Amino acid sequence: MSRYNIREVKYVSTRDAEGSAKISSAEAIKRGIAPDGGLYMPASMPRFGIMDLSQISKATYPARAAYILGRYLTDFTAGELLSEAEKAYSGFDGYPAPLRGVSGRESILELWHGPTCAFKDMALQIMPRLLSLSLGKTGEKNDAMILTATSGDTGKAALEGFRDVPRTRIMVFYPAHGVSAVQRLQMVTQEGSNVRVCGVNGNFDDAQTGVKRIFGDREMISALAGKGLFLSSANSINWGRLAPQIVYYFSAYCDMASEGKIKLGDEIDVCVPTGNFGDIFAAYIAKASGLPIARLICASNRNSVLTDFFSTGTYDRRREFYTTSSPSMDILISSNLERLLWAVCGPEETAAHMKALSADGCYTVSAETKAALSEVFSGYYAGEEECAAQIKRMWDEEGYLADPHTAVALACAEKYRRDCPGGRRLLTVSTASPYKFAGSVLEAISGSRPDDETKAADMLSSLTGVPVPAPLRGLDRKTVRFSAAVDPEDMAGEVLGFGEM
Ligand SMILES: *Cc1c(COP(=O)(O)O)cnc(C)c1O
Repeated sequence: MSRYNIREVKYVSTRDAEGSAKISSAEAIKRGIAPDGGLYMPASMPRFGIMDLSQISKATYPARAAYILGRYLTDFTAGELLSEAEKAYSGFDGYPAPLRGVSGRESILELWHGPTCAFKDMALQIMPRLLSLSLGKTGEKNDAMILTATSGDTGKAALEGFRDVPRTRIMVFYPAHGVSAVQRLQMVTQEGSNVRVCGVNGNFDDAQTGVKRIFGDREMISALAGKGLFLSSANSINWGRLAPQIVYYFSAYCDMASEGKIKLGDEIDVCVPTGNFGDIFAAYIAKASGLPIARLICASNRNSVLTDFFSTGTYDRRREFYTTSSPSMDILISSNLERLLWAVCGPEETAAHMKALSADGCYTVSAETKAALSEVFSGYYAGEEECAAQIKRMWDEEGYLADPHTAVALACAEKYRRDCPGGRRLLTVSTASPYKFAGSVLEAISGSRPDDETKAADMLSSLTGVPVPAPLRGLDRKTVRFSAAVDPEDMAGEVLGFGEM
């Protein structure tokens, strides 16, 4: 595939008022987070037109990825990107990002056919490879120590992505009582010589705050440097995570056109089950780069902090935290929202809002910013009963088995449709295999569930005839390698201990 006129794209921190400290894409991937605590964003946005869309329409998924990524990650060659994308997406079961049609009109984009059966694989199978290349490109002497806080799916996907990747180590912290049994088993049985997994006595925000504190701890950073290590992140705040997620929106759009659901150039709406705001923000970037997306529907579960934000302009994390059946969306601080604020209101306001969020737990955007957000975003949420009812209805009426995260999005998409019965096609993102949350899905469909998640998967499979994906079979027979759980204050000690090895 030929490429022409590729402009170099530099990256700036969302909190850099001058926007003067511009760095390369390789440097941004290597660092993960900016020294001022901000997140990296492209200083200029690549543009794609109809020609580009028709160009990639007939290409394989890895070729689409290389084409799109090449415009954002301009210090990687086309050859490097294609070869890494081919390796990254070879471990998927079939086409990496297939569309499913339900009820004639609606399209569902399934992003969970990777090795851990959740959408995080879409980015985390390729990001470690990009990071590894970035170490060479930036002349880095130290090896990368990846620290990640996970609400469930990121952890396993990151472990699987980094496992035995040269010059990297990975340590994953998860909320000890905030992940599903299958998610926990997937992580604590992780294989690989460069991996470590640790529970945190707290919720996801405690784990994420703990990780952020370690990133800001100068003593820790110099102690690790003494051991030939530097800290980086695999969380969705790393640009290397976000960039590969842009690809599947372009890919899905092309596939909708190939299926005759739209014509190239028609606008679509996109509904995304949202937690840390990474997946939906990738759709926003795709739109900003010219993909014809009209509205983005931000779907939340009972932890509806984002729904309230989009309707009132006030982000207020001072509220009760609920543990739900869609744990990857149980989040009160959606880190990537900072990138959206930067894009809409610039670095100064963003820095002020982030300061207020950490000092007071809330902030309110200006009327102008709120209006700009409302032009693109609609926020909806679905509670636990709505989610279960949606799972049942999708199965009974459509024969479609949805996991709770996907069901939240489908329920929100229906609410949006009721409020705005426009003519655009709606693409809803499906983020996990129903078998990752088999107990909840089985209960929603049949009214009861066994305590044992593995048994639930077998029962769900015999009830529906839908097979359990290979990576989720036989988990209970694997050896548990990591059983520790620590208090948030002791996370730093765990990291240092791992650095000693
Ligand atoms: C991570 C995750 C989400 C939320 O994605 P964000 O990018 O954090 O908004 C939704 N569903 C599943 C299954 C996930 O793993």
